[in-house]
Parts: sequence; structure tokens; C-alpha cells
Amino acid sequence: MQTIEALDVKGRRVLVRADLNVPLDGDVITDDGRIRASVPTISALASRGARVIVCAHLGRPKGKVAPQFSLAPVAARLGELLGHPVAFASDVVGDSARATVEGLGDGEVALLENLRFEPGEESKDDALRGAFADELAALAELYVGDGFGAVHRKHASVYDVPKRLPHAAGGLVVAEVEVLKKLTEDPARPYVVVLGGAKVSDKLGVIANLLGKVDRLIVGGGMAYTFLKAQGHEVGKSLLQEDQLEQVSGFIAEADKRGVELVLPVDILAATTFAEDAPHDVVEATAIPADREGLDIGPKTRELFASKLADAATVFWNGPMGVFEFEAFSGGTRAVAEALVASGAFTVVGGGDSAAAVRKLGLPEDGFSHISTGGGASLEYLEGKTLPGLAALED
Ligand code: ADP
Ligand code: MG
Repeated sequence: MQTIEALDVKGRRVLVRADLNVPLDGDVITDDGRIRASVPTISALASRGARVIVCAHLGRPKGKVAPQFSLAPVAARLGELLGHPVAFASDVVGDSARATVEGLGDGEVALLENLRFEPGEESKDDALRGAFADELAALAELYVGDGFGAVHRKHASVYDVPKRLPHAAGGLVVAEVEVLKKLTEDPARPYVVVLGGAKVSDKLGVIANLLGKVDRLIVGGGMAYTFLKAQGHEVGKSLLQEDQLEQVSGFIAEADKRGVELVLPVDILAATTFAEDAPHDVVEATAIPADREGLDIGPKTRELFASKLADAATVFWNGPMGVFEFEAFSGGTRAVAEALVASGAFTVVGGGDSAAAVRKLGLPEDGFSHISTGGGASLEYLEGKTLPGLAALED
């Protein structure tokens, strides 16, 4: 992969695909981690005299203009972080975008409106996607792929535009790939993976692949209940993916066969409802009452998981241990995060919610070796899949 240092950018229009998909509450950005992670590449290009055109997506507007998904608040925050105002185009490839690009001087930065307002961006139809990529590419002379969180998507701005312009990988993509390579090629051992979060089905592929690589797999969060159920325990009203039970049973058997230590919760915070202030009790993981739902791992599990992380040399963590958005159910996630910091291992946190949890809980970001900006992208890399956005930058 060619890096930005190899591009002659002075006075030239450079389209930077960034990942600025931040959580919003109304028009207030609640976690600006992805914007901050995008700043170094943008400012490096600007300081070399490039006319920087940033493009990105926000949320899932599904090909239609939807004001609640406007990138306008992001343009303002990006400007603050760069220390220079960022010109904002009110469309993606229309009159406003063209005029905004036209008005850019050397070293200036513009942001286009949400790419996903355009149906071509995510289209599965190559011709539709290609036509939109043509319009996007026409705005610039060079392309920089730096939106690591989106490199697993075969989208116009990620996959098709770099086929149309001379291109390079931005510093964020280079750094992310370097870390993931370390995890896949020759990780220091013991290599421990901690998985949690809500979406079991999203994470099955990575489990299948990791069982051949890791020494220990710790499962918490909403995922754990499908594992407990597969072992024959009732899980009450807890998150459960009935249709994944068979596959999860297969993983449990496979872990045993391969000598991978599988660590599951032994106690649970079982709540009466899914709410911030829900009454709850600590129960054994094997005895969750029928009318309760598990919203966090219990105190014995926190100690158990910490002890299973203490001797690790490499740790990859994806997915919160509980509903950390609710203060009362954030303790398990905090305990695991603190155990990572204390371990002295090479520690990688992947996943939008996991990274947001680290920051929300006020843990020191520099206590981790790497906090990835990409959840799906890092998981798919670890699965061994070819990521379209990386493949396009290789050619
Ligand atoms: P990431 O974005 O880090 O990959 P996910 O998106 O898979 O993580 O999962 C994050 C979500 O999982 C959080 O919103 C959290 O509230 C939820 N979650 C974690 N544990 C539970 C649980 N026991 N029950 C319901 N939801 C949970
Ligand atoms: Mg998530």
C-alpha cells in the first residue's frame, strides 16, 4: 500500500475518505473519537498545501436526504480540532459540493454532506455505484483512503473511487492494519480474546477463525446468554439468539477439542426490566430466574475475567460486558477494561461501542496499546476476509 508521503499533493484537490460516524444526541456529538483519529491525515495533507475534500457517512439514512444525519455538526467539530474552519457542502456531489471545492485554497479543508444521502454510495448495482463514484472522483485529482471503520464495505467512496484516481492509504488505515497484522501473524502468548456486546450473529465468523489462534476465549455481554443456553441453562428474558444455538454448541465443542480455554460468566446482574434504574440482583449464571434479564456480569465473574487477563501477553477485546450505557450495569465493562490496562499485555480494543465505553468510563486511552476506530472492519480482518477498501488501495 502506497502512503500519503508518496503523493505530490501541493495545490492539488485530494479527496479523503474518512470515518466520521460519531454518536449524536440531537446535534451534539457525544464521542468525537473518530473525528480526532481522522485529524492527523487531514492536517498532514493540508500542511503540505493540498486542497483537502473530506467525505464520510453518518448513520443509516439509506440513500435519502435526512437532516438528522447531516454532517454539519461534524464539520464544526473538525474545524475546532484542526484549528481552522472547515467549509461545509450541503450536498455530496451537487452544486454546493462543486462550489465548495472550487473555493478551496491551498491548505484548506472542506467536508461534503453525508455520502449515504446518495443512493449510489451503498448500491449493490455496480453501474449505479460506479456512476456515483464517477461524480465523486470528478471533484478531485487524488484519493486517500483513511476511513478504517468503513474499509469492509464495498461502497462507492471506499471501493470504486480509488479505482478512478491515483491513491494512497492514510495514516490511520496504515496504523490500524499494522496492529491487526500483529494479532493475526504471530501474537505473543498467551493470546486472549474477550468478546461481548449484543450481536452474536455478527461475531460468529470471527469466533470460528479465532478458535484456531487463541489460547483463551472470554465471552461476556449479551452474547454470553446464547452460550449459557447452549450449555443447557435457562437465561430468562436475557438477550438470546435462538437461531445461533446450534453453531454456538459447535464452538463449545471445537474449543474443547482444540484446547482453547472458554471462559463464561459465573454470575449475572439480573434485572426486572431493561432500564437504567431497574431493580436487580446478583444470581448464579446457571440459575437466572425466568422473569429476569441479565444486563451485566456479576462480581465473581469480574474477578474471574480479570484473573484470566492478568497473565495475557496479547489481548483483543470487542464488545461491552453489559449495558454500559446504564451506570448501574457498567461495572463489568469497567472491570474488564481495567484488567486490560493492568495486564501489561499488547492490548487492542476494537468496536465502536467498546471504544466509546472506554472513553465514557473515563479510562486512560493511553492505557491501551491500540483503540481501533473500526468494529466490523477489525473483526472482518481477524476473520481473514479480504476487505474491499484495503484491496482497492493495494492495486
Ligand atoms: P461493538 O460496537 O463494540 O462491536 P456491539 O455493537 O456488538 O459492540 O454491542 C454493544 C452493545 O451491546 C451496547 O449497546 C450494550 O448495551 C449491549 N449489551 C452488552 N451487554 C448486553 C446485555 N447483557 N444485554 C443487552 N445488551 C447488551
Ligand atoms: Mg456497536
